[in-house]
Amino acid sequence: MLTKTNPDAIIMGTVTEIEMIDKLMEIAEVTDPKFLSRKIKHYPELVKYLDSFHGSNLNEKAYNAIHGDSHICKYGNQMKFRSFTYGYRMCGNSGTCKCKRDIMAGEYGAISMAAKKRTSAEQAKINQKRRETCLEKYGAANGKGTRVMIPNIKDISAGRK
Ligand SMILES: [Zn+2]
Repeated sequence: MLTKTNPDAIIMGTVTEIEMIDKLMEIAEVTDPKFLSRKIKHYPELVKYLDSFHGSNLNEKAYNAIHGDSHICKYGNQMKFRSFTYGYRMCGNSGTCKCKRDIMAGEYGAISMAAKKRTSAEQAKINQKRRETCLEKYGAANGKGTRVMIPNIKDISAGRK
């Protein structure tokens, strides 16, 4: 097992694949992503190991070593690598691949569902607020009590004169 007290053990050979990944994750954890590839280069064995992974640079290879090969969209198109932290972005746009359209359709579906839900919930809230206002102002939930109440108030003030 590699420890932080002996970080160069990895270049002394006989390390398993799991240890390679462990080492990589250990480096990634304490390294600014901007300097990750530079840091990885300090470990030739790790660079050699990462070479078997897909990627045009060490960051991409490191990402694939940790997260598994996920650079091909479900329609077989190459996705674009963004960064070690974020991984891959879409293979293209809705004009170039169906996967983007699938996602958009899914998102629109979710949005319209949420909008419907919100509309009925908000309508119920508005109705409730209207009832409360009527109750406060006129002492009746539907506002029809006003006609009765106004003459009553007049009678009371007339009686006080
Ligand atoms: Zn695609």
